[in-house]
Amino acid sequence: MRSSTPQHVDLAVVGAGIIGLATALAGARRGLRVMVIDRDAQANGASVRNFGFITITGQARGLMWARARRSREVWREVAAAANIPIVHTGLWVTARRPESIDVLNAFLATEMAEGCRLLSAHETRQRCPELLACVRAAVLESTLELRVESRTAIPRLADWLERAHGVTFLRETTAIGVSMPLLHTSRGPVHADRIAICPGDDFNGLYPERLAAHPLMRCKLQMLRLADPGFKLPAAVMSDLSLGRYHGYADLPAATPLKAALAIDQAEHLRHGIHLIVVQSADGSLVVGDSHHYAPTPDPFSSTEVDQLILEEFRSALGIEPPATLERWVGTYASATDRLVLFDEPEPGVCIAIVTCGAGASTGFAVGEEVVSKLLDG
Ligand SMILES: Cc1cc2nc3c(=O)[nH]c(=O)nc-3n(C[C@H](O)[C@H](O)[C@H](O)COP(=O)(O)OP(=O)(O)OC[C@H]3O[C@@H](n4cnc5c(N)ncnc54)[C@H](O)[C@@H]3O)c2cc1C
Repeated sequence: MRSSTPQHVDLAVVGAGIIGLATALAGARRGLRVMVIDRDAQANGASVRNFGFITITGQARGLMWARARRSREVWREVAAAANIPIVHTGLWVTARRPESIDVLNAFLATEMAEGCRLLSAHETRQRCPELLACVRAAVLESTLELRVESRTAIPRLADWLERAHGVTFLRETTAIGVSMPLLHTSRGPVHADRIAICPGDDFNGLYPERLAAHPLMRCKLQMLRLADPGFKLPAAVMSDLSLGRYHGYADLPAATPLKAALAIDQAEHLRHGIHLIVVQSADGSLVVGDSHHYAPTPDPFSSTEVDQLILEEFRSALGIEPPATLERWVGTYASATDRLVLFDEPEPGVCIAIVTCGAGASTGFAVGEEVVSKLLDG
């Protein structure tokens, strides 16, 4: 793309992860000519390493919960249009401790419980007799969650944006600086009336001095893919550890005794930031995680000890032996100690957007709409 006349677009988006693609969609829906620039040949960051789990239940009360609900709506529209299968729906949060059951009851008394209810042991057994530990536990069922297979969903979303919305993609191209109205890239300048920067956990690329003013960190997660257990999960599954971690439950006053109990009973799990999510893919295999380790540059190595702790929680919460491990990987996402989403507008026409918690797949489409609204509506 080296030419003396830079290509002119209404909106240039840096980053082709879910936040960049969501911003591109929101821009295209507002009638803008959009170009997405990414340094990689295909998405390779958090957006393809995650569970593909669009979680509503358990998101922080208020804005994040509302963002997740809005994003779920857009995911449904986009999945149908872009031929992205919804691999499964719903969530079971299993509670095997009395303190966890108190949290579930407190949660059910809030507005966030819409679409959620406690299952009876009979229903649990009827729906999935194989999950013996769930039958013995209390189970909160939410019907709201969706799951996509991120590693295929993200490329399909990008293809569809190109075909259906005329979004252009400049791949294997690094954005190296902004001097409005030019975005300077490793392939030359792009003339853009507006620029959205959605860099994931790259805090040292564009506007590093602005990002340095925030308490940002990177979070490393370990993930596993296990073989098909031979039956279909009724929904995604979470456990007591999630009730102590996800803001929508953990910020309720009723969660204080649970957190104290977990600190004693599962200190090793908490030391590695482990909680359990189990989702199932179309071929029956299970995606299982995860752990949370924070550092400016996390190491890229998977720890066997951490994997074993995740599998121990799998055993306790589901009541079955974990099937064979087929794959292991690590991913990182942006994290901040003072907020869940970071927006910064370093100069007119430029907006930086980073989801600074593990909820970008769940809230990204709403975040993209907010970015475009900031750029167009002020
Ligand atoms: C293991 C794991 C599990 C997770 N599970 C869930 C889950 O179940 N549900 C959920 O909601 N969220 C989950 N998350 C979080 C979610 O995946 C992230 O919040 C989300 O993917 C962040 O998207 P992003 O677009 O900001 O970042 P990314 O996907 O990392 O994309 C950023 C892109 O920007 C590009 N880029 C950066 N700087 C430049 C530059 N200067 N020039 C060109 N390109 C640049 C990068 O190449 C990259 O492609 C999980 C994350 C991980 C790692």
